[in-house]
Amino acid sequence: MIRIKGLSKQYRMGGETLNALDNVSLTVNQGDFIAIIGPSGSGKSTLMNVIGCLDTPSSGEYWLDGEEVSRLRENKLAEIRNRKIGFIFQGFNLLSRLTAIENVELPLIYRGVSAKERKEQAIEALRKVGLEERIHHRPVELSGGQQQRVAIARALAGNPPILLADEPTGALDTRTGKEVMGFIKDLNSLGHTIVLITHDPDISRQAKRVVKIMDGMLNEEEGGRNELLSSV
Ligand code: ADP
Ligand code: MG
Repeated sequence: MIRIKGLSKQYRMGGETLNALDNVSLTVNQGDFIAIIGPSGSGKSTLMNVIGCLDTPSSGEYWLDGEEVSRLRENKLAEIRNRKIGFIFQGFNLLSRLTAIENVELPLIYRGVSAKERKEQAIEALRKVGLEERIHHRPVELSGGQQQRVAIARALAGNPPILLADEPTGALDTRTGKEVMGFIKDLNSLGHTIVLITHDPDISRQAKRVVKIMDGMLNEEEGGRNELLSSV
């Protein structure tokens, strides 16, 4: 489903060049639940942006469902992104003026889904995260865990095959974080492919597979799961 080969990303600032991603290779199969773990500044969000078609690499290959997407222009990338990928962020990124259901409907508006279908899909997504009783609440009227569940429902709306979660529990206490991870696990059982990004070894253990990124370097072939967790 996701096949990344020799991928690099440089940021240029002033006269300096920073290798945010350095020769990354990674394969994620359909139905996988992979955690990418690494310390702050190691390139996790940069990698997530490339995987999520929000950004393009400086060099290397990115195959998504058999299509090379690393050189595509923004309008084509956006089309692939809308169809294939749901995003979950640390800060929830909900719009405070909108109710839960309106937040979930938002990406469906961009996808041109009709009002009636939008409502049905949004309610279905909110049901999946156990929030059918809260659909008309605004973010401020919801707890942190509930807000993240709305954000998960928004990522689910339109049923994208891939969910990308960047530190989804980073703003939550341990117990609520566990609960949110429970929902993410359930979504994997329902067939969504999950790429989870975290700096937290406890959270990464919830995934089926863990790979480590360090200074922009990630190579799946190096090191097994146990070795990797003990060295984080
Ligand atoms: P992480 O998510 O693991 O904390 P990031 O991918 O955000 O790491 O950042 C990797 C490196 O790239 C860091 O050194 C960061 O300062 C740098 N970086 C990230 N985004 C930009 C940008 N837009 N411009 C310049 N440098 C960036
Ligand atoms: Mg980050």
